[in-house]
Amino acid sequence: MGKFSFRSLVTCCIGIGAFLFVLVVFSNKPTVLNTLNAGNLAALPINDSDESFLTLNAGVSSLETTATELFTEDDPTTSTDPFFNVKVKRGDSLSSIFQRVRVSQEDLLAIQKVCPEEWGDQYLDVGQTLKFQKNVDGTLVFFEFVKDRLTSYVFTRIDDTFTAEVKEKKVISKKTFRSVEIAKGQSVISAGLASGIKQELTLWQLPKLLQWDIDFHHDIHPGDSYEILYFENYIEGEYIGDGDIVAITFNSGKTTHQIVRYRPSEDALIKYYTRDGTSTEGQFLRAPLEYSRVSSPFDPRRLHPIENKIKPHNGIDYAAPTGTPVHATAAGVVTEAGKKRLNGNYVVLKHGVKFQTKYLHLHKIDPKIKVGAKVVQGQRLGSVGMTGAATGPHLHYEFLVNGVHKNPKTVDLPRNEKLKGDELIPFQRHADEVFGLMASFASSQQRLQAAETAP
Ligand SMILES: [Zn+2]
Repeated sequence: MGKFSFRSLVTCCIGIGAFLFVLVVFSNKPTVLNTLNAGNLAALPINDSDESFLTLNAGVSSLETTATELFTEDDPTTSTDPFFNVKVKRGDSLSSIFQRVRVSQEDLLAIQKVCPEEWGDQYLDVGQTLKFQKNVDGTLVFFEFVKDRLTSYVFTRIDDTFTAEVKEKKVISKKTFRSVEIAKGQSVISAGLASGIKQELTLWQLPKLLQWDIDFHHDIHPGDSYEILYFENYIEGEYIGDGDIVAITFNSGKTTHQIVRYRPSEDALIKYYTRDGTSTEGQFLRAPLEYSRVSSPFDPRRLHPIENKIKPHNGIDYAAPTGTPVHATAAGVVTEAGKKRLNGNYVVLKHGVKFQTKYLHLHKIDPKIKVGAKVVQGQRLGSVGMTGAATGPHLHYEFLVNGVHKNPKTVDLPRNEKLKGDELIPFQRHADEVFGLMASFASSQQRLQAAETAP
């Protein structure tokens, strides 16, 4: 541990050293790099990170790339091609770029005069592209600012003025259906990728959206399957990423879970609902930690191995390596946080008037977890350990309803919202439509596969 900290300290010093070195070297050559002087550095926009060290590092890499790019990028001042592209670098302004590519400030003014209001100098971001075209005598005849993948602003010279035009590309969203079967040795994620789902991020939403119904770390078995309807986004035929998930049917063992994306009314939020119109946003997570194994189940009539009498096991033991993070399964207030002989380091949370959760044998309790502190769902309480009466590192987790111990794995977890009455009819219509579409996708896929395998 000490070695690691020392190494990061050294890395840090080297980083700062390199930064100062580059700063010193280039501050001696102001004519070569007119955009890079101490004044510009001080004015660097700090918008992508709160941590000053990261910003410092970003400054270093930007300085270094600028130095090499001066010679490698197609340099407009030496190129014979009248078209050229310039990438926006840190500290650039339109004015400094126009100066660098030797386009007159009069032309810049003429462009700014016709520039659409929604785009001004302040919208320059590092990495954006500016396209220039000059005629033989060096006059700018065409200028394009590519704001992002979708939007660019085009300026074309007519005599002494420019015309401005906004070019917008359209994102085409295609409804995409995949049917996934989880084979032995596969996870929900790897099986999805193998079935042609392109974006892992899409698949990581499954454990999140279904976490109130399925314990993804213990309840997934080979032979389980799911069907997913989601959007793939394209610009001019090129795939650019996935959009939202529309619906999922998940077959876990003999149970089928279905959820669908839906907005109950104009001013309501879009959420996911189960088939009967219950919001998937429950108040509790099914388990307080990931990557664990149940080493001792909830058992109110457990025969104690040593004392040979009935001694209930009022919670679930999750075996996990020491240090594994333990999370609050729901928002609540800390009512106990401390150490006892049998519990070891432990935390008790109160969730409203009815519910309580307990977390025992922790290695460490996080400093913020003090009696009276409010926690949000998923917040880290501490880490797995074996303090108190424990023979190996594990978390003992208890779930109490009105003071009575319940099995955390099977207890009916409270949900936030259920659609009722007038809301329910349009929802059912929407859900029928979506799952009907999925069924027709599935059967046409089966027909395709049958045709492919036919002799
Ligand atoms: Zn236990």
